[in-house]
Amino acid sequence: MKRVALLGATGSIGRQAIEIVEAHPELELCAATSGSTPLDDVDAAFTQVGGDVEEILERAQPDIVLNAIVGFAGIHATLWALERGVDLALANKESLVAAGELALAAQRRGGGRILPVDSEHSALYQCLEGRAPEQVETLVLTGSGGPFRGRTRDELTTVTPDEALAHPTWRMGPKITVDSATLANKGLELIEAHFLFGVPYARIEVVLQPTSVVHSLVRFRDGAALAHLGHPDMRVPISFALTYPERAATPLAPLDLASLTLVFEAPDTETFPLLALAREAGERGGTYPCVFNAANEAAVAAFLDGRLPFLEIAAVVADALARADGAPARDLDELMEVDRAARAIPVA
Ligand code: NDP
Ligand code: MG
Repeated sequence: MKRVALLGATGSIGRQAIEIVEAHPELELCAATSGSTPLDDVDAAFTQVGGDVEEILERAQPDIVLNAIVGFAGIHATLWALERGVDLALANKESLVAAGELALAAQRRGGGRILPVDSEHSALYQCLEGRAPEQVETLVLTGSGGPFRGRTRDELTTVTPDEALAHPTWRMGPKITVDSATLANKGLELIEAHFLFGVPYARIEVVLQPTSVVHSLVRFRDGAALAHLGHPDMRVPISFALTYPERAATPLAPLDLASLTLVFEAPDTETFPLLALAREAGERGGTYPCVFNAANEAAVAAFLDGRLPFLEIAAVVADALARADGAPARDLDELMEVDRAARAIPVA
């Protein structure tokens, strides 16, 4: 029996994770949390709405933590698991992006394993498994391009939250859906891949694949590229992480290969500057990725509230990065202060 602590149980990932746990007799929900939504219908030994997640984790003593909280708020759960050497199934990319070296140091101390839930990183993890690092040429992250792929900046000046929330291939929570529309999500994923796999930014590519069937690829030094294909359905990477290394069955139908046409295109980084801003923040290192993430979270919240135009999200993030000094954080308190300061940048 594997005892799962599910943080963010009421969200998009959380609900799908409950489905996977219920379908698998070897998985047991020992803890479930939410930010404020009641958990009355969730069957777990311990539940907690709001509050300090470390308390419920200490009580539940899980074998694996599925961090499906949205945003920087997920940082405590990520660090808790890494420090204690408890397996971490990571959907909450923001915590790894923001904590970066601090998270890796916690992982070295605790010996914890990160099993990525983000579909691209799950794909990369599977393509990389068992290969020596020197065989790998580049990682290729794929992205759908979101609902506004192909549009010009002029066409984006008046887009509404409802339009940004209409993602063509994935059904997800509102924050990541807006991040997919701005390409900030691919930027966060670039930094996430750097920290997960220890590959320099210059060797991580991004390509668009609008139907989200190819979840990512690895190019090897002999010229071969291994790709991971599947339906755009998060139950697969959630199940992979929770049942690793067993790779349990899921209810998904096989891909109908004969009906597939795969098209790839380069991302338009001029219309969607957040991808290039994330790459620059990642390359500069220190707390620049934390600032990128924090300013983006604040700007997305303002956009969803109708207080900030879509194109201003990138402008707010660029402004926050320009004001920051990027000095590395020595501990979580310093990191939280950097996060707080980057959010305080006035929006609109
Ligand atoms: P949702 O917005 O659907 O769910 C977020 C969950 O986090 C909810 O359970 C929410 O509780 C909880 N939560 C929100 N704020 C806090 C807080 N301050 N403290 C504790 N819990 C909180 O998000 P998603 O499920 O879409 O995404 C979750 C994470 O997974 C994100 O980091 C996202 O980037 C990542 N991810 C998501 C994918 C997807 O398909 N959805 C794909 C790949 C990655 P409440 O209901 O009470 O608000
Ligand atoms: Mg993803």
